[in-house]
Amino acid sequence: MTMPRGCPVCGCAPLLSTVKRARLPAMQNYVFHTRAAALKAPAGAFELLVCASCGFAFNAAFDGGLLHYDTNYNNAVPSAVMDVYYREIAEYLYQQYDLDGNFVVDVGCGKGTLLRILAARFNTVNGIGIDPSFEEEEGTEATARLHFIRDVFKKQYLPKATALLLCRHVVEHIPAPLSFLREIAAALGRGPLVNCFFEVPDLGWIIEQGAFWDFCHEHCNYFTKDSLAFLLRQAAFSFPKRRTAFSGQYLWAEAGVGGDQNLPIQKTIFDKNIAINAFLKDIITYNDREIRFIADCRDNLLARKTDGWRIVVWGMATKGVIFGNLIDPDGKIIDHCIDINRAKHGCFAPLTGMEIMPPESLKSRGQKSQIVVMNPTYAREIKTMCGDFDFDRCYIDARGNKI
Ligand SMILES: [Zn+2]
Repeated sequence: MTMPRGCPVCGCAPLLSTVKRARLPAMQNYVFHTRAAALKAPAGAFELLVCASCGFAFNAAFDGGLLHYDTNYNNAVPSAVMDVYYREIAEYLYQQYDLDGNFVVDVGCGKGTLLRILAARFNTVNGIGIDPSFEEEEGTEATARLHFIRDVFKKQYLPKATALLLCRHVVEHIPAPLSFLREIAAALGRGPLVNCFFEVPDLGWIIEQGAFWDFCHEHCNYFTKDSLAFLLRQAAFSFPKRRTAFSGQYLWAEAGVGGDQNLPIQKTIFDKNIAINAFLKDIITYNDREIRFIADCRDNLLARKTDGWRIVVWGMATKGVIFGNLIDPDGKIIDHCIDINRAKHGCFAPLTGMEIMPPESLKSRGQKSQIVVMNPTYAREIKTMCGDFDFDRCYIDARGNKI
């Protein structure tokens, strides 16, 4: 692995080496149809380098050649909680921006869920979704106001009446985020002001919560509210309005580009002595404590298992898969893995080979259960699903706190 000498965003050095993993699933949301295949899943390394000047954090060991998207890749979370969240975003965007009769362009739209919700709720909104992995989902209603393009972003896909550009959960996957954002800014920047809405996981939340299961090979970049703002300014967006969402796990940044703003690219680093120094201290402290977090978590679960409790991990998207790999790589502690995504049932998680099962599978194996809820935002929904299961159970978060 060749270590970069300067920050990919601001070009400065030094880069601090922080969180490291020798072996993670290259794609944690890729499932396998046999345990044998899952055990031989592609593995990637992870080393989080943090720029001491602008706070940009990235996996220097990221290997894009290990990523291979096909029908075995599935990161859907078919939860009512997620559905409510999408509706909240749609309402917020409509209230915030002048979308009537205009186009919302969603770069990295996935299956187009947010655009569909937006267009169904507001019948004056048009949408264009762009995603190289877009697939029409069965049972989704076609509407003349939505158009989907299976490709990467290109400026010719932008309609003249673009009022808002969405880019959600994309920038953390792009190995060269600055040139990607500059391409978007340049495509939008020649016309009137266009507002843009970005959403990424919040690195500040990960380190504050000690969420060691949220560092994954697939996400090559990690952002705080300050480092995301700096990146956007470097790409000639206006200084963004920022807030957190989804119980603090996600970061929103809203910035404009084009119009008569004539914004120069950021030359100096804002708040350098305050925001960056505080963040560097936090990430270094987190990194020093992480080994203890992981060991405590493993010890607590082992103690419960020794007392006769069945150990259940609920949530086998990113969080549960990475958690299993870090806590129990040899499959000696976790008894049962649950996810509500039907496409994953009966499949096996990469590297650990843990089988992913539906919630009802717990019922037939009634035994007192310690249920590790990987994302407590779904805790109420999970408890409701387990409502009539006839066995003792205890819910904890992934750090071992009762919930
Ligand atoms: Zn930097």
